[in-house]
Amino acid sequence: MKTGSMLYEGKAKKMYATDDPAVLLVDYKNSLTAFNAQKKAEMEGKGRLNNLISSRLFEYLNKKGIPTHFIERIDETRQLVKKVEIIPVEVVTRNITTGTLCRRLGVEEGMVLPHPLVEYYLKSDELGDPLILEDHAILFNWSTKEELEKIREITLRVNQLLKEYFEKLDVILVDFKLEFGKDHEGNLLLSDEISPDTCRFWDRSSGEKLDKDRFRKDLGNVLGAYQEIWSRITSRGE
Ligand code: ADP
Ligand code: UDP
Repeated sequence: MKTGSMLYEGKAKKMYATDDPAVLLVDYKNSLTAFNAQKKAEMEGKGRLNNLISSRLFEYLNKKGIPTHFIERIDETRQLVKKVEIIPVEVVTRNITTGTLCRRLGVEEGMVLPHPLVEYYLKSDELGDPLILEDHAILFNWSTKEELEKIREITLRVNQLLKEYFEKLDVILVDFKLEFGKDHEGNLLLSDEISPDTCRFWDRSSGEKLDKDRFRKDLGNVLGAYQEIWSRITSRGE
């Protein structure tokens, strides 16, 4: 597969065309950003770990029958994916209360929710990804009602699968963000990445944060936390 021109450089990844118009090459960067890119850093080795972790989780979800964009990892920092048109709605699922949910609603930190909470945010750097209702997405044509129903159903399945996957690694899946897109045939595919940049992971026994919150909150040893997640994933042997 030949690498073509760079189509897009985002905060965490670069997207390249390939000789197949339906396939993109994703190169994971070492940049870390938080608070809508107001806080930035470079961290050698972060791109590699996110590529390894995201590839492994997408392989797992593909195997479980979740429709995803992931094709294959080609080296330490790069992977091939099916090109999609991204639906501009970020889907956040929460199992435990923390982060913006607590800040916005004044609810207590660390409550285990009796069932998962699914929230929608408009994907817009200019507006700071505001929280939206399903009706906003439908009325402003960011997505259709049918797509949102499917997105919610897939999201809840992904949550169940990943929660179980991480429980076996003594990691609690606190919350995470997903993105969806449509390929050239109109198939709805889980896209983007699943990594410590986009999920909150807590160690089951100590409660230690093993994700980007270490960067957001200046807790130190950010790379060590990402490495710990990768080590536990590889210990699972699949
Ligand atoms: P951001 O745009 O938020 O800075 P990234 O650095 O992660 O984020 O850039 C990757 C971009 O590629 C994102 O906008 C994401 O929505 C988009 N994307 C992810 N997967 C695909 C795909 N399969 N096809 C097309 N675009 C994708
Ligand atoms: N998240 C993300 N990208 C975003 C916003 C949130 O990946 O643009 C993830 C974040 O890592 C966390 C979950 O979604 O796992 C919920 O994040 P929250 O709404 O609490 O916002 P944050 O505190 O991350 O700003």
